[in-house]
Amino acid sequence: MTAANIREVLQGSPESAGVGSEAAFVVAADEIDISMDRMDSVSVRMVRRVAGKIVHLCDGKYTLGLANLRVRCGCPLSWKVRRLHAMERRGPRPHARVVFRLSDLPDAGVSEFSTSSWDFAEAMGELDDLGSMGGPRKGVLGIEAVRFPTRTGLEVSYCRPVLQVATLSSPVCATS
Ligand SMILES: [Zn+2]
Repeated sequence: MTAANIREVLQGSPESAGVGSEAAFVVAADEIDISMDRMDSVSVRMVRRVAGKIVHLCDGKYTLGLANLRVRCGCPLSWKVRRLHAMERRGPRPHARVVFRLSDLPDAGVSEFSTSSWDFAEAMGELDDLGSMGGPRKGVLGIEAVRFPTRTGLEVSYCRPVLQVATLSSPVCATS
């Protein structure tokens, strides 16, 4: 497996040498077909840092990192209120991660995509682990353009990452 194969599938180029056996890629493709076969393939964490230190780490409901203890973290269930609290610097922000293999190059190894997009976290919030997806899944990881008019009539646009997970009726076999 060479970087050239990966480059072809992603229509991208290596961004840097990476660390150890890792490499980062700048991707030009609007979407890529992926396979997710690990229990933690999709995770959404809420993180708040103060002076560089993590002071809140949760899955939106429970505090993480407390061994087997399940303690409610106090985050509001509403994503709207979560955004508001984060804007007021009194609530955590999302950190979503997708661990996957390229469907066209499963032998290229495991890749990771992470984002702090609120839209992405909100969409994935219900699928905070692969167990809740019902098992290994294929999906499409892509970039979607969003456009909306402001109150003053100005058109604002931005791009957000999206993950479409294949429906329960079309499961895939684990590739590992
Ligand atoms: Zn929390």
